Amino acid sequence: MSYQHQYVDGTRIHFPLGKVVCIGRNYAEHAHELNNPVPTEPLLFIKPGSCVVPLGESFALAADRGTVHYEAEIAVLLGKPLSRKPSTEEVLDAISGFAPALDLTLRELQNSLKAKGYPWEVAKSFDGACVLAPFVPADAISDLTDIGIRLSINGAVRQDGNSRDMLNPIVPMLQHIAGHFSLQAGDVILTGTPAGVGPLHNGDELVLELPGHSRFKSCAL
Ligand code: ZN
Repeated sequence: MSYQHQYVDGTRIHFPLGKVVCIGRNYAEHAHELNNPVPTEPLLFIKPGSCVVPLGESFALAADRGTVHYEAEIAVLLGKPLSRKPSTEEVLDAISGFAPALDLTLRELQNSLKAKGYPWEVAKSFDGACVLAPFVPADAISDLTDIGIRLSINGAVRQDGNSRDMLNPIVPMLQHIAGHFSLQAGDVILTGTPAGVGPLHNGDELVLELPGHSRFKSCAL
């Protein structure tokens, strides 16, 4: 399914999808559950735009390639470019919206790549590896340090986090990223996953939400 950014009211967002910048281990509890050390500076990787699919009634699992883990994350959409250590005001002005997203991961493959000291790309960038819901406009969310992210599977809450528990909060995170490389309108930042990651199975019914702002149902196929 082709992807185009849109708001929750169905309005299409005109700028094209860019890259998806991801931060690993941004919640201490999640780093611990995978026996990873908590990083001393943000751990970044990039998913290409080609792996993004919209969160519709269903989404496809690359189940022929090993275990696919879900990671529910708060996605931040940029509507303006950011580069070279932008100010807090510039960062806030550049954010267009927020959405719940799934960073899908071929966990066994990632573990074998990690063990060899290789990049994770092929475990994180397969077609369909980033599932993005429509965005809540930025002006609807006033406090970036109090945004919830929740994922339920088959009626049971599996992940229930809040941006207040991020090791790198959203604004300093975007400043850090833009200090390393330029961000453009249409780029998306996945801000890390809280504890509770696990495998997805064919037929799993998901509810993915930014509690109080947006809520979506979907099915893994
Ligand atoms: Zn992730």
